[in-house]
Amino acid sequence: PVHPLLDRTRRSAELYEEAARYMPGGVTANIKHFDPYPLFMESASGARLYDVDSNDYIDYNLCYGALMLGHGHPQVLEAVREQLSRMGTPVFGTPHEMEVEMAKKLAALVPGVETVRFTNSGMEATLFALRLARAWTGKRKVAKFEGHYHGGYDQVLVSVSTRERKRGAPPEARADSMGVPEEIREQTVVLPFNDWETTESVLDRQAEELGAVILEPVQAGFIPPDPEFLSKLREYTHRHGIPLIFDEVKTGFRMGLSGAQGRFGVIPDLTALGKVLGGGFPIGAVGGRREIMELASPVRSGDILGGDKGAQGSEVLFHSGTYNGHPTVLSAGLATIRVLEKAGAFEAVEKATTKLRQGMEEILLRRGFIAQSVGTGTIFNLVFGDHPVREAQDVLRSDLTMRRRLDHLLLEQGIYIKPLNRFSLSTAHVDAEVNETLTRFEAGVKQLRRG
Ligand code: PMP
Repeated sequence: PVHPLLDRTRRSAELYEEAARYMPGGVTANIKHFDPYPLFMESASGARLYDVDSNDYIDYNLCYGALMLGHGHPQVLEAVREQLSRMGTPVFGTPHEMEVEMAKKLAALVPGVETVRFTNSGMEATLFALRLARAWTGKRKVAKFEGHYHGGYDQVLVSVSTRERKRGAPPEARADSMGVPEEIREQTVVLPFNDWETTESVLDRQAEELGAVILEPVQAGFIPPDPEFLSKLREYTHRHGIPLIFDEVKTGFRMGLSGAQGRFGVIPDLTALGKVLGGGFPIGAVGGRREIMELASPVRSGDILGGDKGAQGSEVLFHSGTYNGHPTVLSAGLATIRVLEKAGAFEAVEKATTKLRQGMEEILLRRGFIAQSVGTGTIFNLVFGDHPVREAQDVLRSDLTMRRRLDHLLLEQGIYIKPLNRFSLSTAHVDAEVNETLTRFEAGVKQLRRG
């Protein structure tokens, strides 16, 4: 079948053909691929993306949620230019003042953060958090939740994709990729989100061996936790001495300045951050309780000059990275936080999100589709079905074929969404953008066919 976009995206098709000769699948990350070919973008501004064929899109992917201020926010661009000219280089490879400034900021804003280490991605942040937790407890196994993504490495690439199962049946631990060693998969225990009874019974069987429990406090950034779920998990892990890690890579600086933990009032031992924190540049950070974080310190016995000696021994928890705390990244991140700290910034984006969600639901229902939006804060998803959506299983039970069809029609109408993915908004998605999106959305839904 001819892709509806085919006529208008010929240059993307050509570039894709060439890309596929030099990169597996023509992409630099599997998630960037979709059928029949992904669109190649050329420039961006505010809420808009412009592709290589000069089509414009209102962007709801926003680099998978990272761009909380939209594209090219003037204060972020200015901060980056200023950093490059002030320092005369992108990076020193030595300590510098912005690291201190950002660490201080995170400690002040995020309740569970006392001290911080920076990484280059969200994936490295969860990896480091898990190592800290295992070192702290001396235990090997890690518990994670079905459908929760923490990055692409072996230990957590387990049961990110979901298979249908009976309610109350514990999820299986399945590797999501070839090449994940069986013995690493076996170290991962998988739990069902928002099902406390089953979660508790699985934890009871494993508690002695668990070095960490990690989760996205809001599943996949859009499915909210039941009110009691997070606090029960907190209470349980505290009672059993298991460090609780919140992966706030998506929710950090989206669910407000204090993240999901501030919003729900449940404080983890360790927090992984990323995305918005880098203002569009690659970043990750781990923050948490001082005594756990301190395992990574190369300084021992209060002897500050003994640092190098300490770092040689196995008593130190290894953490490193050539670009950790990169000045260009931190200047963009600090500028982003400064904008978000202004009164009403999050409220405005949440208000726009609510208006968009309600508008989309109204259009779908009026045109005879059974659909709902599911979300929290500034992120949501569209689900064809009217059953409650409390975990990934429930998304599986919805009409995904219809959703895929809709997403392609939306692309054709100039609404950029990675098919089947979430919608994220930014401070650039003001009323005019939301109204225009709803007009485009209606034009897309008009062509949506059942069956
Ligand atoms: N954790 C969560 C919750 C994420 O959403 C992501 C990225 N989608 C990651 C970790 C990994 O972050 P990165 O892509 O920066 O490695």
